[in-house]
Formats: sequence, structure tokens, C-alpha cells
Amino acid sequence: MTDNDKTTSAAVKSQSIITTVEQLQKQFSRLHALSRSNPINDWAIRERLLDDLEMLLSDNRENLAHAISADFGHRSESETQFAELFPSFTGISHAKKYGKSWMKTRRASISAMYRPAHNEIQPQPLGVVGIMVPWNYPLYLAVGPMIDALTAGNRVMIKMSEAAPKFAETFAKVVDHYFSSDMVCVVLGEVDIAEAFSKLPFDHLLYTGSTEVGRIVMAAAAKNLTPVTLELGGKSPVIVTKDVNLESVVNRVMMGKTLNAGQTCIAPDYVLIQREHHQHFISLAIEWLQKHYPNIENNEDYSYIINAAQFNRVQGYLDELPADSVHNLTGVDANPEIRLMPPVIVSEPALSSQLMQNEIFAPILPLIHYDNLDDAIQFVNERPRPLALYVFGNDDNEIYQVRTQTVSGGVCVNEVILHVAQHDLPFGGVGDSGIGAYHGKAGFERLSHMKPVFVQAKLNGMNLLLPPYGDLFRKAMALFLK
Ligand code: NAD
Repeated sequence: MTDNDKTTSAAVKSQSIITTVEQLQKQFSRLHALSRSNPINDWAIRERLLDDLEMLLSDNRENLAHAISADFGHRSESETQFAELFPSFTGISHAKKYGKSWMKTRRASISAMYRPAHNEIQPQPLGVVGIMVPWNYPLYLAVGPMIDALTAGNRVMIKMSEAAPKFAETFAKVVDHYFSSDMVCVVLGEVDIAEAFSKLPFDHLLYTGSTEVGRIVMAAAAKNLTPVTLELGGKSPVIVTKDVNLESVVNRVMMGKTLNAGQTCIAPDYVLIQREHHQHFISLAIEWLQKHYPNIENNEDYSYIINAAQFNRVQGYLDELPADSVHNLTGVDANPEIRLMPPVIVSEPALSSQLMQNEIFAPILPLIHYDNLDDAIQFVNERPRPLALYVFGNDDNEIYQVRTQTVSGGVCVNEVILHVAQHDLPFGGVGDSGIGAYHGKAGFERLSHMKPVFVQAKLNGMNLLLPPYGDLFRKAMALFLK
């Protein structure tokens, strides 16, 4: 926290954790006014805010991880370190390393007829950025957007998910401690508060969550002409080409499907595979689970399903399938009492089943057969644009064909999920899986106004182009319109 911010925050400390619609509107008006009267144009202030965020995470990593685990019933602490804290810390380091250069005004090219004037692009803070957080990675999906918003010099309001209330409360308390409410505040509460939040006239609203709620949020933002970044979900396919090392495919796909018990927006949703690989895939998955999650009903590395509603939703998907198509890979049954759901593979589910009509968001992996690569590509292209697509194979031509003939938010080749951790790459969806991308420089630019500035030279030829249009004008036009 900056000294300046500490001074201003003392009188209004109570406003940094928001729980009512009235407080919400009051705090928004205050931040909005501050963003107009006192924009954060100074890198030193932005850098200190990033330092404060880093310190908040370092000092509280354990209680934050415990709060997440309490919301899930059990969330592996190693997963919280790997999938939430690690990308948060590396995101902060990346922003601290490059932020100063991103915010510099830069020259842009100019066409000959306007010289000796020159063009510049001047990044500016937008003002107040709203961030809406889902429950599945509640830490990284609050901190990631915060990094980009603060690096771009914005003030931030964060609506936490009501489905992860213990983490939300813990996070609100630590933010209150490390940040001035002039800069960052956290909003707690149920859907009514979320609705009111989405109706505030933010300078930008970054929402992460389901596609269904994304539509509601975008409609609310449209009333204020608030630009949105929508980080949504969907069914991210895996295409296993013919020439592969199946063991390494299973290794990576099962990693992606078991991480956070499949409750990952970019988890592999289903696998398109050739019939000849099907049985082998299942036996390799069984071996993989024995090795990596032995004794899964009592394994601290394996996370539970967030709540009964989610558990019942996916159990319902399984219950409607023919029993012989569902392969129990661990010998352990799902336990609704504690919301433990061991991974299963489903062979060739009907495409009309709920499992294939909805994002799964659980450790259930459908295997779908295809005959040739064109069919697999067509299968993907007939469905909504996915958030991620994973292609495995040894043949570069086939990989290239999949990359160029499908459109998805992002792609990993011979890997899953890791594209989200690349701060040098934009992250986001396309079509039904989202609008706009963030992370690193892309996030900085998304949450800045990249203002175009035309700078005229003292001596310039513009007066030659004024009426009454004479010979000189006609000659100039003949030259320009040639
Ligand atoms: P969620 O239920 O926690 O909701 C997300 C946010 O929307 C919360 O802040 C909540 O308060 C708010 N909200 C809920 N109802 C609302 C309403 N009617 N109006 C306004 N706001 C409302 O999370 P979820 O939607 O269940 O999250 C899971 C989904 O998020 C999955 O589809 C997943 O794929 C997606 N997701 C996407 C990404 C990504 O980066 N693209 C990351 C994580 C999760």
C-alpha cells in the first residue's frame, strides 16, 4: 500500500468489503470520481500495488489455500499451489518486469502525406474495472485479472463467487488489509449482489464464469455501453491423431481431467479417438490412476466436487447412460456425502446425452470414435467454438491441419492446459467460449485505453490544402490519388 493511499484509505476503511447494494453503488461512485480526478499514471505506484499483491499472497498462502479447501470439502493444497498461487506469482513478476515498458507512449508509423507530423499510441488507465470471479479457481481468477487491471493503472472492484464463500471472505479480509479501498475492494454476497454489480457502469467488466450467466452479464453491461471481457466455458476437445504415443496422450489427458477433479474451464472435455486405440486408452488410464492417485478415496492430492448441486448435476449425466458404457477406473464409487467423484471413462455416449450436450466440469471422460481426421475436425466445427483444443500426434502435417481447420480460444500441441500459464500469450475464448483475451501484455492493452495521438509539426503543409482550391491543391491531389 502506498503512503498516499494509506492516508486516503483511513477514513473509508469500512467500505473496502462490500456486502450491500447500497455500499456497492457508493463505493463505485467514489472509485469512479477518484479515477477521474487522480488517474494512476505513475509506474512507481502501479509497481508498489503489484508488490502489495505479491506480499498479500506470500503472507497468506496457507490460509487462502485452507479457505479454498474448506469450500470444496477438500481441495488438494498442492493443486492450489500449482494452479492458483504459482501462476499468480509468475504473473506478478512478469507484469513487474515488463509493465513499465508496456505503459510507455510509443511511436506509430505515419503515411508520407502527413509528414513531418508523427503518430503515437499512448496507453492510459480506463478508470474502474469490475472483475467477476467463479468458484473453481477463485484465487487465480481474482488475482490474474487484478494483475492486468492494476498494471494498467485502474482501480478495481472484485465480485467473488457465492459458491466459494469461505475463500471469498478470507480474500476480502486480506485485500482489506493490504490495499487501500481507494484502489481495490472486494464484493461479497449472493446472486442479487452479482446482478447489481454487473449493472454498474464500469469502464470495463471482466467476467469469468459460465456461458449462460455470461449472456446475462453482457446484456446488463450493454445498457451502460460497458465493454466486456467474457471468459466463459464450453467443451474443449482432444483430438488424438492416428500416429501417436498413446501412453503420453493418456498421461497428459488424465492429468488435465483429474486436476481439481475436472473442475477446470480448460480441462479436456472429451476425446476424439480412433476405434483401434479405444481399449488401450482405458487400460492405460487405469494404470495411470493406480500410479498417480492410489487409494483415491483417501488421497490428499485429489479434490472434491464443490457442492451438492454440481455433484448431482454430473451424477445425473452418468445415471442416464447405459451402465456398460461407464468404466469405473479406480474400483471406487462416487460418494455423495463428501462429494468425492473418482474419474470414469464413458465409451461412445450418445451425442444427444446430457454428457455431450453440456460442459462436463467433472472427472468424466467420454471417448468418441472417428474414422479419418476430416471427420474429427468436422465434429469440432459443427459445435460451438471451444475454449481450448488439444491435438496429439507425431505427424506435423496432421497437427497443422487440425490447427488451421479448427477455431478455438487456444490450442496445445501434445499437451493440455499449459497455454493458460503462458504470460506471453493472450488467454481467452472465441464465440460461445468468450470475448476478448487477457494475461500479460494482452491483458494490459485490454484494460488500457490505447489512445491514438496525432502530433502536428510546427512547419507543415496543411495550409496548402485549404480553399479556395488552386493549382497547388490540384497537383497535390493528382499525386495523392494516383
Ligand atoms: P459462478 O456460479 O461462481 O459464477 C461466476 C460469477 O457470476 C460469480 O461472480 C457470480 O456471483 C456471478 N453470477 C452468478 N449469477 C449471476 C447473475 N444472474 N447475474 C450476474 N452475475 C451472476 O461460476 P460458474 O459460472 O459456475 O463457473 C463455472 C463456469 O466458468 C464453467 O463454465 C467454466 O468453464 C467457466 N470458467 C471459465 C474460465 C475461463 O477462463 N474462460 C475460467 C474458469 C471457469
